[in-house]
Amino acid sequence: MSKIAVCPGSFDPITNGHLDIIRRGAEIFEEVIVVVFKNQSKSPLFTVEERIELIKEATKDLPNVSADESKGLVVDYAKEKNASAILRGLRAVSDFEYEMQITSMNRKLNAEVETLFMMTNNQYSFLSSSIVKEAARYQSDVSDLVPKAVENALRKKYEQ
Ligand code: ADP
Repeated sequence: MSKIAVCPGSFDPITNGHLDIIRRGAEIFEEVIVVVFKNQSKSPLFTVEERIELIKEATKDLPNVSADESKGLVVDYAKEKNASAILRGLRAVSDFEYEMQITSMNRKLNAEVETLFMMTNNQYSFLSSSIVKEAARYQSDVSDLVPKAVENALRKKYEQ
């Protein structure tokens, strides 16, 4: 079995919570591919290209982590990359139902790809891309919530 994991999400933008899951995943798997998917029900602040650039910048010290995009299904992407696992983070009970739904659907689509969940570190339990954007929009300090490049990118977006 391959030791490749796919870490899918919107990453609009990547936060320290995402990064925590990616870092810990990178210690377990030989390779972690962070994949940006367009979530149809969310209207994004950053383009897919911008999100990928920010992920690359935030993970540049992790040689076995790469960033990519996909427009299809996560399970198809995982199969194409010969990945054996989909890695997701769990923050609170509120994440659970949504994650259960996606996981059962993914298992139905392809039972060979296993979904693994990692509990977030307590300090990131209430951290989400949406909260960060809301705070940054009103010029709040988000320096302890996101990587430096994201902090700068948010400032630029909201200056416009
Ligand atoms: P999606 O739109 O698919 O939910 P997100 O970018 O919001 O994508 O999240 C991608 C993954 O990262 C999900 O598994 C989500 O639960 C996880 N995640 C998001 N924020 C955190 C956090 N603060 N701590 C741990 N995991 C997180």
